[in-house]
Amino acid sequence: MKFATKAIHAGIEPDPGTGAVMTPIFQTSTYAQESPGVHQGYEYARSKNPTRSALEANLAALENGTAAFCFGSGLAAMDAIFRLLAPGDEVVSTDDLYGGSYRQMMQVHTRCDVVTKFVGLSKAKNLEKAITKKTKLIWLETPTNPMLNIIDIKAICKIAKKHKIKVAVDNTFASPYLQTPLDLGADIVLHSATKYLGGHSDVVHGCVVVKDEKIADRLKFMQNAVGAIPGPQDCFLVLRGIKTLHLRVERACQNAEKIAKYLQNHPKVNKVYYPGFKSHPNHKIAKKQMRHFGGMVSFDLKKDTTAAAHKLLSSTKLFTLAESLGGVESLIGHPATMTHGSIPREARLKIGLTDSLVRLSVGIEDVDDLLNDLEAALTEI
Ligand SMILES: *Cc1c(COP(=O)(O)O)cnc(C)c1O
Repeated sequence: MKFATKAIHAGIEPDPGTGAVMTPIFQTSTYAQESPGVHQGYEYARSKNPTRSALEANLAALENGTAAFCFGSGLAAMDAIFRLLAPGDEVVSTDDLYGGSYRQMMQVHTRCDVVTKFVGLSKAKNLEKAITKKTKLIWLETPTNPMLNIIDIKAICKIAKKHKIKVAVDNTFASPYLQTPLDLGADIVLHSATKYLGGHSDVVHGCVVVKDEKIADRLKFMQNAVGAIPGPQDCFLVLRGIKTLHLRVERACQNAEKIAKYLQNHPKVNKVYYPGFKSHPNHKIAKKQMRHFGGMVSFDLKKDTTAAAHKLLSSTKLFTLAESLGGVESLIGHPATMTHGSIPREARLKIGLTDSLVRLSVGIEDVDDLLNDLEAALTEI
């Protein structure tokens, strides 16, 4: 089955009890048993819920995996993956990653003696140097946030396999429509479904997709034993969002491409970060491993000050100033004072995250209106 068909049909059957075409929201905590232990596959809703089961089957199909597990947020999903590790194990992570993931690695898992090393993995050969006998997991995010670097998933997985290390890819920025890491050799895929999968900025949700049976069994155990599950209503919203994932992401990519080109030619703009440009250092890999270049665009200003960026951010009318991404509506943000505010300025500047860097999550509005909005806001600077 092709992607668009899977998005709408995979894992979804009319409800056997009523014929309801859309998966019902099974708002129940428990299920009637005929006699002790004799039931229809559902006993208690932390372990299993039919709305969640439908979503999990759908997500497994979209990522070309064999099993998926849903959680109350992207970070809860990440926590479940880290629980596969044992004290003393090491993780090598890309150094350009979501701030909340960094915080969890540094302030939660270190307390269980799981230590993460951060390395620039857009050069795959940097990985080899960071691996030790204790390394058990490689953590990738591509495209990265907010610099939109691209990591060669296949090349990283090849090195990891040689050392028998598992690879987890946070696929939130790309969505399974643009890239399927399990096909490139990764063992685990994570999503903050809060972003493109949900797609309407109305739910916080996370999931993990795998194809290895042993990892699947362990994650299933963690999902039930730790219990960081989403409610059925949230699962329903993500299922509903996924039905249009391909259309939304396609349009967001088209809009982002036009906006990136417009910004590149704007006299007040310094540099545009967009993997679709031939001049992007990882353009060739992006072209190889992604279907399109994504809906995210970052850029900084010739007038490289926080004040200039803030002026721009408070001048747009369609681009809403807010954290998050991947919704139908366009958002604008200032990483230096918002998502990446906790990173020291020196460290920020080193990776190109300047005082005036602005990040756009391009939505699916009419692109002419989005361009006009940016044009008007840029004249304010
Ligand atoms: C938002 C985000 C997360 C965290 O997900 P939540 O659903 O907010 O917990 C993880 N990784 C990336 C890349 C994100 O953008």
